[in-house]
Amino acid sequence: MNLVAKKLGIVFMAITASTMIPKFAMAANLAYGETAVKEIEYLANNLAGRSVGTEKEAETVDYLSQRLEDFGYEPNLQEFTYDFSGQTLTSPNIIATREGNSGKQIIVGAHYDNAPSTSVLDRSGLEGVNDNASGIGVLLELAQRLESNPENTVIFILFGAEEIGLVGSEYYASNMSDEEIDNTLVMVNLDSLIVGDKLYINSGVEAATNPELGFYRDFALDIASDLGIPAETNPGLNPNYPEGTGCCSDLESFDGLVPVVAAEATNWEIGEKDGYTQTSNPNVPGGATWHDPATDNLTFINGVFPGLIEERTQDYTRIFDTFLSSLNGNTTSVPEPTSTLAMLVTVAIGGLVSQRKMIDK
Ligand SMILES: [Zn+2]
Repeated sequence: MNLVAKKLGIVFMAITASTMIPKFAMAANLAYGETAVKEIEYLANNLAGRSVGTEKEAETVDYLSQRLEDFGYEPNLQEFTYDFSGQTLTSPNIIATREGNSGKQIIVGAHYDNAPSTSVLDRSGLEGVNDNASGIGVLLELAQRLESNPENTVIFILFGAEEIGLVGSEYYASNMSDEEIDNTLVMVNLDSLIVGDKLYINSGVEAATNPELGFYRDFALDIASDLGIPAETNPGLNPNYPEGTGCCSDLESFDGLVPVVAAEATNWEIGEKDGYTQTSNPNVPGGATWHDPATDNLTFINGVFPGLIEERTQDYTRIFDTFLSSLNGNTTSVPEPTSTLAMLVTVAIGGLVSQRKMIDK
């Protein structure tokens, strides 16, 4: 379909949307997961070894900025400087904002860097398909799908230097003003979405002692359930990783400042029950692919898990596209039970804390 026809299609659907046709029909010419899979393949095939301080890192920043421009954004680079391995390096966070009307905002983040090489392990060929081309792909598709003029501002951030200690996300979070923190409804983190026996949605660890912070996690889990997608939350079998909470990615930089929701595929019931052992599939050495050039790549993952890249990206884009449109007041895009929830969210984010408690689980 050419661009003119697409535009006409959007106008037509926008009019009929008011007669209760689901909003997601507007993106009917684009299957869920389609953009995400293309981006994952591009990153794997062209931008392997994108760790801090490399030429590939710089190329990745250029490429991702261009993709965000293609989707109608004007990305900004937020640069930060840090010491790593005896060098002083500078990397950027890539920030793309779609302004809303409410004065409130939602942050969606994914790190774009790969784990770096060490003296004993060459990672210059690390494709980083699962960690974290998957999160980048889903983020880009959510950015592509997001309506113009949403109710709440949505800020998409591709974080740099996550793998060496959450440096980019920590820089962003520590530079948020009190006003920005107050106006942030939730931060959604997308990291390692494919390899894993199960699809998880967790909160930050702060929710273990302040259950209200689990509200958006439960909201996302309810959306998954309504969509027929089997999503779970960490069962908390290891006392160091409390039930319902995740860890060890950029969500930690925001946890305690704003509510956080973390998406990841893994298996919290095996190994040390800490989320690091991803699968009981005997064809995956050690049960995990993370940071391993021999396994975190297209050939290996497609060989051991045929169709899983497509399935997981489709599931996560459906869940979080619905999540964003529900928080932006488009309740026609979700099935009935979640529409009710979405209305309650609207009430809750209007400041009535007691309404939140009503639907806490
Ligand atoms: Zn990661």
